[in-house]
Amino acid sequence: MSNKKYRSYAEFLAPFCMEYDKSLVVLLMEVPIEGLIVYLGSLGDYVFHQTMYAYVGATFDENVEKRRKSLWRWRKSHIEYFLSNPFIRITGRCCRPADDNLTIHNVAGRMRWYGVAVKGFEVYDCNCESHLVRVENIYGLLEELANLGFKCFLGNDALKNVGNEIIDFLNKRMKNAEKAYGLLYKQFFGSGERNDLSH
Ligand SMILES: [Zn+2]
Repeated sequence: MSNKKYRSYAEFLAPFCMEYDKSLVVLLMEVPIEGLIVYLGSLGDYVFHQTMYAYVGATFDENVEKRRKSLWRWRKSHIEYFLSNPFIRITGRCCRPADDNLTIHNVAGRMRWYGVAVKGFEVYDCNCESHLVRVENIYGLLEELANLGFKCFLGNDALKNVGNEIIDFLNKRMKNAEKAYGLLYKQFFGSGERNDLSH
């Protein structure tokens, strides 16, 4: 057994929804480059389209031991691997207090109505196809989330009032990006600041 520490999605997501003790979280994320390849740990390298993706997770753990066992060789959850890619922008966050009436798996099923599943994403301990969808109908999805009781913060508001851990995480990934992506990074971002980094 490896002694590497596995950080669960709940630990990673907690700073996104500090409004409630236990939350369901939906993140809306934009992939700005067609064919962007992102390393996802146990899923290997995955090719993404230039469009919007939506992910559902929670700020509390169910079955963390089971997940830890199946993922012992990986350090992070799929969503943390995904967001470690510096090109991916967080364009919305939606939070809802957790209760017995709605699970992340219910939400994943609803999200699937508005997009295409990225098969195998964050589904270690459930029967869902995926907890990440490539969004085809963003208006429908936002309406659905509102009906389910989520409060969404979009655009520049997405990263207001999130925990410092997330801001530090995003700043660190930007610092590493130029080294890792070199010329592509410079062409893409120039020398300008990206708006998702201001607190
Ligand atoms: Zn599920």
